[in-house]
Amino acid sequence: MEYEKELWTSVLNILEKEVTAVSFDLWIKTLEPIEIRNNELILVASSETAKNQCLKNHATSIRLSIKEVYKTIDNFVILSPQEKDDYLKTKIESDEKKEKELKPLCNFNKKYTFESFVVGNSNQFVYAASRSVAENPSSKYNPLFIYGGVGLGKTHLLHAIGNHLTLTKPELKVLYVTCEQFTNDYIDTLGSNKKEKSLLTFREKYRNLDVLMIDDIQFIASKIETQEQFFHTFNDLYQNNKQVIIASDRHPRDIATLSDRLRSRFAMGLTQDIQKPDFETRMAILRKKAQEERYSVDDAVITFLAEKIDTNIREMEGALQKTYFYANLLGKQNASLTDAKEALREVFESEVKAVNTENILDKVCRYYNVTEEDLIGKSKKKEIVEPRQVATYIITELLDLPLASIGKIFNGRDHTTIIHSRDKIAEKIKTDNHLKIAVEDIKNMILKK
Ligand code: ADP
Ligand code: MG
Repeated sequence: MEYEKELWTSVLNILEKEVTAVSFDLWIKTLEPIEIRNNELILVASSETAKNQCLKNHATSIRLSIKEVYKTIDNFVILSPQEKDDYLKTKIESDEKKEKELKPLCNFNKKYTFESFVVGNSNQFVYAASRSVAENPSSKYNPLFIYGGVGLGKTHLLHAIGNHLTLTKPELKVLYVTCEQFTNDYIDTLGSNKKEKSLLTFREKYRNLDVLMIDDIQFIASKIETQEQFFHTFNDLYQNNKQVIIASDRHPRDIATLSDRLRSRFAMGLTQDIQKPDFETRMAILRKKAQEERYSVDDAVITFLAEKIDTNIREMEGALQKTYFYANLLGKQNASLTDAKEALREVFESEVKAVNTENILDKVCRYYNVTEEDLIGKSKKKEIVEPRQVATYIITELLDLPLASIGKIFNGRDHTTIIHSRDKIAEKIKTDNHLKIAVEDIKNMILKK
């Protein structure tokens, strides 16, 4: 602004020499620049008469001196005080319209609504909290932190909130992003050659919101700089009484590298888990999905799937779809239990096949970034010994193998060493949360959860 004032003062200095003192004092000195729009300098005169005088007697002088100072601008508009008011009013309206057009485009999945969400013992609290936030954002639960295993309905609930808000409060700016999108958006600003400007765009995108939802926040775990950005974004929204909703596959305390200050920010609101659904809920979900997708299946299929798959609703849905498509391929209108068993035989078999010592060693090595040679070798280094003991522990947990056979895998160690390793980890995970998480993560990798 200072700079712009200076420019205008230079224009006045030129004009002062060009016109009579009276004209200058009466008409020109009182002109006030308000903005540059479409390459025109918009000026406001002190009265209708002043405007007319300037246009009638001094238009050329004004134009030339503006061009001399502003260089790229060679035209101007003079508004009377009355016109100024109209001008500002339409400007506000058009800005508002623009803002609406810039509203973050949210493509909420239309299938994921509160109505299509089956409520049972496992998810009734998280459902109630989500509904409450959807109905009254920024009032009771802020932030709302939803956590639970893969395929249990977290993303479904976030979209349900989004769909509900879009319908009932279309004026609110609601943004859903995955942690990955947020991270990429931020990393893009770092790579940009107009870093300042793109950081500004990033801020505008994330701080100019009424509701921000971030899915799968556990992936933020090791990215310190992104955490920093998220921390500031979070604080900014929170201080302005905006709603933040976060989903994660685990409790904040179990996101090992999450900074303490973010953890304590999350604790300011409601942290609510979503549990594995019980048998009845699984049945109800399967029935609902079959109905929605118009899959005609026997009730025995529903029972079979609900019994067989109890940890992941997405997988359960996948199995239902597979069964129906299989029956359809055989030209049947309706899928029976036999169809389900046939269609899913490979799925269930390969699951059993995947859990073997080879696979376990492989996943442990990858997790700890050690070689298999080291893992089964004789090294006594701490960074090798612990992974070795973890591998031993997981093998005893997941496979029904005689201790002597396990010893053979580890270069012929005897069974007492195996027992020692197993018990050591079993004991340690009771108190060491990091280790407990590591073991769970590796097991999930092996079981492909
Ligand atoms: P998450 O984000 O927790 O991994 P999703 O929200 O993606 O899980 O859910 C996986 C699938 O299971 C989705 O198709 C979702 O519609 C379905 N689902 C999960 N919970 C329920 C529920 N309670 N009622 C109906 N469908 C559900
Ligand atoms: Mg999800």
